[in-house]
Amino acid sequence: MSLKEYRRKRHFEKTLEPRGTRVAQPHRTLAFVVQKHDASHLHYDFRLELNGVLKSWAVPKGPDPDPAIKRLAMQVEDHPLDYGGFEGIIPPGEYGGGTVMVWDKGWWEPVGDPDKGLREGHLKFILHGEKLRGGWMLVRKGGPKSEEGERHWFLFKERDEFARTGKPITEEMPLSVATGRDLDEIAAQADRVWGLKVKIPRAPRGQAGQ
Ligand code: MN
Repeated sequence: MSLKEYRRKRHFEKTLEPRGTRVAQPHRTLAFVVQKHDASHLHYDFRLELNGVLKSWAVPKGPDPDPAIKRLAMQVEDHPLDYGGFEGIIPPGEYGGGTVMVWDKGWWEPVGDPDKGLREGHLKFILHGEKLRGGWMLVRKGGPKSEEGERHWFLFKERDEFARTGKPITEEMPLSVATGRDLDEIAAQADRVWGLKVKIPRAPRGQAGQ
């Protein structure tokens, strides 16, 4: 696993996003976070800790606990573990510039071998978030050998007691689980702009997985 692509895309002298220094603790549960990201297009970044990084997918419509609904999930570059604690603003013009909210967080359990699941395009897991719970699946479009579908996955809920239908959970529960704020409130708080270097801690850390 490498954070090379993550680091290549960012100017760390301009953004306060972490370079990624936090290392995995062997006996800790695996962190899970969903960040609502209002960039050029609103999307939800779905991140699962594995092997010391956050495996990441951008889900344009957000996760849905209705098992009948499969959401497109584009795999993006691995992110550092500290990223899961971030809520604030990425400066305009920077990679991913816009507002980021910690929409859900908690921990996750792989069902079966997660490395094999990722390789073969079939990852089954249980989420223990504040909003998302129970069994979920990430399935790669085109299956194990698909090159065209390499980054295209589908995220969907398994049928269990946490499945639900009706109003989308993203509409029903739109606020930050970290601060209770909505996107406008986060955007309005200039003191939380990551790009400002004045007396702002470089890496608010330790929120993911706790
Ligand atoms: Mn994003």
